[in-house]
Amino acid sequence: MPTEPVFTVRYWGITGSFCTPLLPEQVTAKVVESIEYLARQGRLNGLGPVPGLREAIEREVSLLPFHLRSTYGGNTTCAEVRTPDALIIIDCGSGYCELGRLLTKQWNAPDYKGAREAHILVTHPHMDHTFATAFFGPYYDPRNRFTIYATPQVIGSFEAVFNPDSKLSNTYFPPTFALLKAIERFEPLRAGQEFRIGSTRISTFPLRHPGGCIAFKLERHGRSCVFASDHEQQEVPDQGLADFSRGADLLYTEGQYTQAEYDGTKALPGEALMPRKGWGHSPIEACVRTALAAGVRRLHLGHRDPARSDEDLAWLERFARQLARDELCSAGRNPDSCQVVIPHEGLTVEI
Ligand SMILES: [Zn+2]
Ligand SMILES: [Zn+2]
Repeated sequence: MPTEPVFTVRYWGITGSFCTPLLPEQVTAKVVESIEYLARQGRLNGLGPVPGLREAIEREVSLLPFHLRSTYGGNTTCAEVRTPDALIIIDCGSGYCELGRLLTKQWNAPDYKGAREAHILVTHPHMDHTFATAFFGPYYDPRNRFTIYATPQVIGSFEAVFNPDSKLSNTYFPPTFALLKAIERFEPLRAGQEFRIGSTRISTFPLRHPGGCIAFKLERHGRSCVFASDHEQQEVPDQGLADFSRGADLLYTEGQYTQAEYDGTKALPGEALMPRKGWGHSPIEACVRTALAAGVRRLHLGHRDPARSDEDLAWLERFARQLARDELCSAGRNPDSCQVVIPHEGLTVEI
């Protein structure tokens, strides 16, 4: 068994469709509910203006439920995968901008001697997966080197806004490729293609989504991670995705709706009542069943609907976990054989 992780995955954005920052009243509600929660448990009783107060508060806050003390985050899709010989990034939603700030800091540290290189895998051209490209600081430093792997359709969308000869040049973003000097090359991809980045083997799979989308499977030293965001399952379980993800250590897929929201019998929080069939996303129940059919060890449900609060997401995570356990039990399988998580920004998983 390898002693160091085969993959280290960190999420920078897990929100679907568009950015969803916390509203001022939501921040206030978290503060009020947190204080009330601690006071009801008598955990504020011994606190006073004495030395060590801050550490005592931090200890109590760390014991609060996640949705009260923190947030899942409102940035759109971006995941970072590190291996000992490559930095691989999946999608360039708004979370990509935050990752760029970290890389700028790390790569410009006085004692940094590592590579200034990364490989960007783009699933599809929708804005929530691409629009932070112009706001990714490391693209502007000519010492850095980036390769972007994407379908011709995605590459065409970048050309449309960044090629200085395009009609849309300077329309959406002032910069063009002339300024984005660190983008070294584009590697055109088609679904089904396989390629390597360092010691990682990557395969691709077509997903069902308006305009098309591709899933990526990263394999290295007998471990595998599948990123299959933006996919509307046509059958449950989805045999194609289950075969592609068979036995994976991690399947990141979406969980935008519940079955009732998808069918239109229940409204998304604060939204109009209407079915979401054909919108290119799947019910959480379908994603859980496909993950169990695939026998994956971890299921991460991303691309959360922007209408949901942190409290809603905490509830959905409990719901999805219970569903997985029930289904595994009724099939006579180990109920703990698939760990179900709704990831939050900053969540880091070693595989
Ligand atoms: Zn999306
Ligand atoms: Zn999409």
